[in-house]
Amino acid sequence: MSLTMFKKKKKLQKNQPVSNQSHCCFCSMQCSLQLVPSGKKSSMIVKPSYDFPVATGRLCQKGLNSLDHVEHISRIRRPLVRVDNDGGKKWSTTSWETAFDQISIRIKELQNRHGKDSVSVFGGGSLTNEVSYLLGKFTRVALQSKYIDYNGRYCMSSAAAAGNKAFGVDRGLTLPLSEIENARYIILAGTNIAECQPTMMPYLIAAKKKGAVIVTIDPRNTKTSKLADIHVRLQPGFDAMFVNALLNVIVNEKLYDKQFVQNRTNGFSELIETVKHYTPDVVEEMTGILAPKIRTIARGFAKAKTGIVFTARGLEQQVNGVENTLNYINLCLTTGKIGKSGCGFGAVTGQANGQGGREHGQKADQLPGYRLLEDQSAREHVAKVWGISPDELPGKGVSAFEMFEKINAGEIKAMIVLGSNPIVSSPNNAVVEQALKKLELLVVVDLFETETAEYADWLLPGSSFLEAEGTLTNLEGRVFHRAKVLETPNENPLDYEIICEFAERLGRGQYFQYHSIEDVFNELTRASAGGKADYGGMTYDRLKEEKGVFWPCPEPNHPGTPMMFNNRFYHEDGKANIFAIKPKKPAEPIDEEYPYILTTGRLANHYLSGAQTRRTEILNKKSPIPVAEIHPWLARKMGLIPNQKMKIISRRGSLDFHVKITEGIQPKTIFVPFHWGKELAINRLTNDALAPISRMPEFKICAVAVKAIK
Ligand code: SF4
Repeated sequence: MSLTMFKKKKKLQKNQPVSNQSHCCFCSMQCSLQLVPSGKKSSMIVKPSYDFPVATGRLCQKGLNSLDHVEHISRIRRPLVRVDNDGGKKWSTTSWETAFDQISIRIKELQNRHGKDSVSVFGGGSLTNEVSYLLGKFTRVALQSKYIDYNGRYCMSSAAAAGNKAFGVDRGLTLPLSEIENARYIILAGTNIAECQPTMMPYLIAAKKKGAVIVTIDPRNTKTSKLADIHVRLQPGFDAMFVNALLNVIVNEKLYDKQFVQNRTNGFSELIETVKHYTPDVVEEMTGILAPKIRTIARGFAKAKTGIVFTARGLEQQVNGVENTLNYINLCLTTGKIGKSGCGFGAVTGQANGQGGREHGQKADQLPGYRLLEDQSAREHVAKVWGISPDELPGKGVSAFEMFEKINAGEIKAMIVLGSNPIVSSPNNAVVEQALKKLELLVVVDLFETETAEYADWLLPGSSFLEAEGTLTNLEGRVFHRAKVLETPNENPLDYEIICEFAERLGRGQYFQYHSIEDVFNELTRASAGGKADYGGMTYDRLKEEKGVFWPCPEPNHPGTPMMFNNRFYHEDGKANIFAIKPKKPAEPIDEEYPYILTTGRLANHYLSGAQTRRTEILNKKSPIPVAEIHPWLARKMGLIPNQKMKIISRRGSLDFHVKITEGIQPKTIFVPFHWGKELAINRLTNDALAPISRMPEFKICAVAVKAIK
C-alpha cells in the first residue's frame, strides 16, 4: 500500500465513527476507560468504564491521567531528520514522503554493503498484537534480517522459559483473575501488585475476605505486603534456597499430593533428593528467615484446599531467574494446586501487552503462535501464510541486549526502534549508549524525543494508545479489541501503516497488502493457528461481542481457555515437569569492595522508562526523581540522614541519589526505581550478565559500594 493510498483511506476512515471506549496503556491489567467531555470547552477527561469484565469501573492514577501524554505539547507531530547546523546536528521537520524514501534508500545501501542482517529492529512490550506481529514479519520478510528482539526480553523472558520447561507452554497466568477469590492460600513472590497492577488488588482483598492467607516474599516492605498475613523479607538472590526449604517441609511431612504428582508430573524423585539438604534450620542460617516461619508457610500452603503462587520480576530478573521461577512452580505441582478452581501459577506480566507482544514473532527465536524459528514445520506453516518460501526465512537472532553488543562488534549497522526506549530500560546502559552512537542509521518511531531518540538520525511520530486500533492480550491470556478513540495528529500514519510503507519501499510491498488493521489480525490468526498461542478461532466481531477470548482458541466455536491444564499439560506425554533446583550464586556476589546489593523496580506513578509518565504532570509531581531506599542500619553505618545524597558505586560506574531511610528494606539491600534516564538512570550501574536460557539480564542484583555525600 503506497502513501497516497494511506491518505485516501484516511479520508474514508475519517467519516467512520470512533469509539469513546479504550483501555489504559500502562499495565497488563488493561483496565477499560472512557473519554468523556470535561465540561470545559472542547476538552476531554478519562473516566473508568464498565465495559470490560476485568477491573470493571476501576482505574489507578496512571489510568486516570493517561490522556495527558497523548495531548502533551512535546509530542512529535511531524517526521524529523537530523541536519548539519553550524557544525552540530539539529532536528529539521520533513515530509513523510521524504522520510520513507530516504530511510529506505539508506537501508538498501547498508544491506548491499554489509548484508541483510546489518539492519535490526527493536520492538516494545506495549505495542498491539498486530504491530508486534507485523514487526516480526517486516524484519524477516521485508528486511530479510534475523535481528529482531524487544523490550519484553527484559520483562517476561525468564517466566516464559520456566513456563515452557515446566508446563510446555508460556502463559503468564494459568487461571483467570476471577478465580483468585477462590484461593485459600496465596503466595506473592517478588511481585508488588499494589504498585505495578493496582486494580488487581481487589481480587486479592476479595480472597482475603473469604479467608485466604496471603504471604508476600520481597526484600522490601511494599504496599502489597501491607495486605499480607506473613511477610518474608528475603535478601535478593535467595529465592531458590528459600523455596527448597518449603519443599523440604512438604516432602518430609508428606504434605504433597501423591496422586497428582504420580499421574500428572515427572521429576519428583530428583526433587526429593535435592531438597533434603535444605532443611528449614539450614536455610535459616543462610537467609536469616526463621525456621518456624518457613514451616508455617510450607504447611499452610500444602494443607490449604486451594492455593495460587504469583511471581514477578523480583526473582525473574536474575541470571538464575528461570530456576527461581521453576522452583515456585514446583510448589504448585507438588501440592496439586493447578488446573482447578482457586489454584494455579501466575507470572504477573508487567508491560501493557507483555503477554501478546511475545506470542507473535517479536522474539529473536520465535514465529507467530509461539512457533520456533528453528522448527522446520513451523517455518513451513508461517511461510505459507506469508506467501514466501520457508527457505527465505532467516534463522534466529539474538536477544535485546545482545543486539547492542552486535552493534558494538560492527555486525549490526542500523536499527529501527518502535515504541521502546532501550537506553533507559537496558542494563549497563553505557554499552547501549556506545552502540547507539556507533550506528550508521538509527530510526526511532515514538511519541516523544526519548533518551534513545536523542541518538537517532530520524524520529518519526508514533501513534498513541488512543489512536491505534488493535488487539492486546492481558495478563490472564485474554485477547480483546481496543477501539480507536482519537485521530493521529496531522493525519500521521499509524504504526502499522509505517511498517507497511517501509515494506513497500523496500520492494516487498506485495506481502504487506492490508486494507485495515483487522486484515492484519485475520492474517495473525492464520499464522498462529495450530501453534501454542492459537488465536485461530478469533475474529474482531467475536472479541468485541464477548469482551475478550482466552487463548488457546483454535476454532470459531471453541469457547477459549480461561483455566489452563485442567486435564493435561502441553508436553507430549501430557505431564508437567518438576525440576530439582540447586541454588546458584548471582553473577556478581557481594564482597569486601562492593558489600551491598542494588536492586531496582517500579513505582506506582511511573511506567517503564517513564517516557510517558514523566511527561504527565500529576504523576511526575508525585515522583519527580528516583530516591534510593536504604535501611537505618546502613544509614547509621554511612552517617546518612534522610534526604541526604549518597553515591552508589558499581563495577560499571557511579551515580548520586537522595536517600529515603526505611525499616522496610532488607539491611544490606538498596532499592532504586528505574524510570529515569541519563544521570538518574540506575541502569547505568546494573549488571548485564544474562540468564543462560532466557537471556534475561540480572537487573535485580548487583554488588555496590556506597559513600555519603557531605
Ligand atoms: S496502570 Fe494498570 S491498573 Fe492502573 S489503570 Fe492502567 S491498566 Fe489499570
